[in-house]
Amino acid sequence: MLNCGVDSSTSGSAQVPHPLTYFVAVPRPWLNRIELAFVFLTFDAMRSCRNCLLPEAAPGAELDEYGICRPCREYNPRALERAEALRQAREGDLEKALKACRGQGSYDCLVPLSGGKDSVYLVHRLKVEYGLRVLAHTTDIDIGPVAWENIRRAVDKLDVEHVVYRPSMAFYRQLFRWLLMNQEARGAVHTISYVYAPLFEGNALRVATEKNIPLVLAGYSPGQPLPERMEYEFPRLAISEVDWTPPELRASGEFSDADLGRFWNPKRYAPGIKFPRYLAPFHAWRYDQDEIMKKVVQLGLISSAKNASPVFSNYPINWLLMYSDLKTFGYNPYAPEFSELIREGKANKQYWKIMGKVVDFITLKKIYLGRHVTRHMQWLGLSDEDLRITRPSRRDWPDFVYQDWAKVAPRVEPAQGAAA
Ligand SMILES: [Zn+2]
Repeated sequence: MLNCGVDSSTSGSAQVPHPLTYFVAVPRPWLNRIELAFVFLTFDAMRSCRNCLLPEAAPGAELDEYGICRPCREYNPRALERAEALRQAREGDLEKALKACRGQGSYDCLVPLSGGKDSVYLVHRLKVEYGLRVLAHTTDIDIGPVAWENIRRAVDKLDVEHVVYRPSMAFYRQLFRWLLMNQEARGAVHTISYVYAPLFEGNALRVATEKNIPLVLAGYSPGQPLPERMEYEFPRLAISEVDWTPPELRASGEFSDADLGRFWNPKRYAPGIKFPRYLAPFHAWRYDQDEIMKKVVQLGLISSAKNASPVFSNYPINWLLMYSDLKTFGYNPYAPEFSELIREGKANKQYWKIMGKVVDFITLKKIYLGRHVTRHMQWLGLSDEDLRITRPSRRDWPDFVYQDWAKVAPRVEPAQGAAA
């Protein structure tokens, strides 16, 4: 049972198509040979864990002589049991929240819809399985054509109401440019994601607060975003007490007050106003990436397995962010997140074994989807030398938020279960 679950997701007949079928139109029997040629001839990919694909260069990987990483060596079934108990505690909390949200505002919940498989599937579950009145909300910045196709199809098929907010692009150009030239220690993906995501999270909070919608439900998969930012739920005091404007943007002196005012700040609301809770249901429900990729296609919510793959539905700027981090750190910044899913049996190792190499290859060579690297660098007026780390990392929230969060978040009661 505890083979880290990797094989269980690769069995069965309705498999996710072979990753290379997206790139080359060749018959299946040829694929293995092409893979081999690809791997051995074109790209000197780095060593990675044989079990979870964690790259050798990732901090803490420490591959041993058998090619197994430290997190896999230290993988503990007991920790898995605790994680499962925590998941169940969260699921209990989520079920209560989904009952309590009904009929309070003009909608029961708001779902930020990015066009990825997870947010699409989330809208389906909430509307069809729970019968909730869902308002879908998209902040239209850098949403690629595949994601748009997914959004339109899903919104039509599920007949949910959908609000699209498209802010000024000049601000985003200035923001991305400044952040890429002034990255924090964890690199480009981290720097941009943790300024960019708060902007659309804040937009969702604003709409939900103004429409008196009690819940915002996001399609974040387990491990996303970083646990110090949110895990299952945004700390409630982060929503009700904290101005989210990144201090480094204010300190740079390059952004107007109006632009800094785009970030969530609860102090702008009258005292006593009720803020929504912001939850990530996939941190509470059982999560299987493969299964969701298949399900959204079976349900007709997304037109093809290709469109359901995060490689194709992700924000186009991600190619530039990956490029910057591949250059800086020598491994793909998403690898640790995916390795964790693979280790826990929540993602398909065979799929990512090939797809990971393909993604790194086309990113560094700036070909196929990797051409977005060139396009975005032109748009932002940046060259390779401009992509730089200049600042240390900082924690997301002030200390009082973490202290309160530790007290109120759903947790596992130590009394129940085995003591041995
Ligand atoms: Zn490993």
